[in-house]
Amino acid sequence: MSWSKHTIGLLVLMSLLGCEKQPQQQTEQPMLEIHGRTMGTFYSVKVVGDFPGGQQALQSQVDSLLKHYNDEISTYDPNSMLSKFNQQQTTAAFPISQDMADLAICAVRTGQRTHGLLDATVGPLVNLWGFGPDRRPIKTPTDAQIAAARKRVGINRLHVEVSADHATLRKDIPDIYVDFSTFGEGFAADKIADFLESRGAHNYLIDIAGASRSRGFNAKNEKWKLAIQKPTDEIDAVQAIIVPDGRGVSTSGSYRNYFELDGKRYSHIIDPDTGRPITHRLVSATVITPTALEADALDTALMVMGPEKAMAFAKQQHLAVYLVIKTDNGFKAQYSESFEPYLVKPGS
Ligand code: ADP
Ligand code: MG
Repeated sequence: MSWSKHTIGLLVLMSLLGCEKQPQQQTEQPMLEIHGRTMGTFYSVKVVGDFPGGQQALQSQVDSLLKHYNDEISTYDPNSMLSKFNQQQTTAAFPISQDMADLAICAVRTGQRTHGLLDATVGPLVNLWGFGPDRRPIKTPTDAQIAAARKRVGINRLHVEVSADHATLRKDIPDIYVDFSTFGEGFAADKIADFLESRGAHNYLIDIAGASRSRGFNAKNEKWKLAIQKPTDEIDAVQAIIVPDGRGVSTSGSYRNYFELDGKRYSHIIDPDTGRPITHRLVSATVITPTALEADALDTALMVMGPEKAMAFAKQQHLAVYLVIKTDNGFKAQYSESFEPYLVKPGS
């Protein structure tokens, strides 16, 4: 995971919006706000109203929850549960936690749903192109290197089995490398939402590097609003404003996380069909689904599809999708019919 989603993702519009419409007499509700680092990126949680134990309890409990999930799925930590599975050089079934099973099921199902374009085993190719834990390449990989890496890639080689009290993960070949980080933030956002609900907090906004879950109202008693950021170097330029109304939202983008080699830009998103970074004009994809996990898994797949296929997929699956596409002289936006109800229209 990188910093890219943090900067391009969803920017939270706090008091800025709405204050023009609701002047002085508006009474603000108390709001707790915490920030921190997790999964190699940043998170923030806002809770309006009371939270048992206050700010300090919120911070320490959310931090320990996030640490727990990071300890399971981090590929940077050689002792995480997922790293242990990756290190295991056999095809024997490996016992995993229920949470890990949920992630693996998401990986397999979204892989099937997107015809292999979301591929949690794509790591060897990610590394080859210089976006993994290994260093950036000095040269573009050769066809032979790409072909060799592709032999170790394929989500259909990963199997998850769950019974009432037991879950296992298994691989068809020993040297597959599994990485759930592209939807780990969405998973964690959902888990924090469950945790807040269990503590009686029902008005909150959680953002982990552009994967978000929110519910209820902000301190001004309005539904939470989020902004999709414009793909410029200006950090706070707003492309569109949405009201997710209790759903999960996630944005994936290709324009800030890339490297240049011999004058060409290479994205960190890999098309598993070609073994190469995507090259089309889709700049960012935002998805709204019931959970942040589903949105966070789909946004990367949409990036792989490119603008036309992503829009056709959104239509076919009745998905709420918003795309930003590069044009010859700037950018244009396109969204699916299902996205429209979430958009705040100018002047409304
Ligand atoms: P971020 O890296 O900022 O979290 P994303 O959620 O869009 O952004 O995930 C991109 C990351 O996913 C890449 O850095 C890479 O590790 C991994 N990845 C690249 N291509 C694919 C793919 N086709 N399927 C699954 N994961 C991918
Ligand atoms: Mg994603």
